[in-house]
Amino acid sequence: MSAKKLPPILTVKEILRLYKIQARKNLSQNFLLDMNMVRKIVRSASFIKDHHVVEVGPGPGGITQALLQANCKHLTVIEKDSRFMPALKMLGTVYENMDIIHGDILKFDMERLFPEELKTPWASKPPPIHIIGNLPFNVSTPLIIRWLRDISYQRGAWSYGRTRLTLTFQKEVAERMVAPIASDERCRLSMMCQHLCNVKLNFIIPGKVFVPAPEVDVGVVSFVPLIEPKIKLPFELVEKVMRHVFHHRNKKCRYGIRTLFPKEHWYFAEEILEKSAINPIVPSYKLSMEELDKICHAYNDICKTVPGIISYDYRATPVERIVKEQEITSLILAQDH
Ligand code: SAM
Repeated sequence: MSAKKLPPILTVKEILRLYKIQARKNLSQNFLLDMNMVRKIVRSASFIKDHHVVEVGPGPGGITQALLQANCKHLTVIEKDSRFMPALKMLGTVYENMDIIHGDILKFDMERLFPEELKTPWASKPPPIHIIGNLPFNVSTPLIIRWLRDISYQRGAWSYGRTRLTLTFQKEVAERMVAPIASDERCRLSMMCQHLCNVKLNFIIPGKVFVPAPEVDVGVVSFVPLIEPKIKLPFELVEKVMRHVFHHRNKKCRYGIRTLFPKEHWYFAEEILEKSAINPIVPSYKLSMEELDKICHAYNDICKTVPGIISYDYRATPVERIVKEQEITSLILAQDH
């Protein structure tokens, strides 16, 4: 049965009216009713046709309809709010290639979601899988950090290869993700995204297009995992170094690097700077990826030889330090095997 030949389905506006659904503040719901904008998002994702697509947070289903009309091969939608289930199920009766999951994306594992035959070697072109979503900002940012970790370990949706992603973020966050060296927005998030992925800010959606309108504009960002990460060290170690180095992003990088060590060991910061041939007075946001790579490796070398350094977190309580030490030490040891 060809879905295109079926009679037109309800518009998002009609669905919201029919099911008497109002946006819930606690789920930060802002709906896209403008189908031109919805189709622009789907077009900007590019790789949809004949792909297995996962849509997170379909809500009343605007993007869902556009994905199905763009001839994706199969669509799985994952929605937390049960009020949208009847409308999504109705769409599911029209389109046979759609699965609906009522659940929380933050607890959902995509490891076995797709057919085995879609698996492609990491170094070849991305598999025909795409994850797409207009999620609330309080979900999309922690989620991308979790997924970047999954990308670095090639697990979950990335056990199938270099699965593409297209997601929305608050404009300022989206701009940080793609920020080039020495730009005002360059920060820890820029480095974490760019060290693992090709990141592209497709376009900005004015906040006023959403219903209800959020106070901020929204950026649509696409990610394609890199064949080789820019920094070949465990995710947690790289994340820790970035967090500390960018703690004082506008100040001399020496200050940020120092925060990796207790005060009595600040000489390690000088050792790192010297070993990496980095000018200590350069502000952190002007450090290149190559320089940050050198800093991470020099720090890793110190952690391997000096017990306890890895667990040092200048903001953590003593108990938190012990837990962190156990977690990160096991990762460092794992590198040697
Ligand atoms: N995609 C729709 C659109 O563009 O109009 C809705 C967007 S609205 C910003 C975000 C959607 O994500 C809502 O439907 C909300 O219920 C859903 N959502 C929020 N948190 C979620 C979670 N943890 N897991 C799955 N869906 C979630």
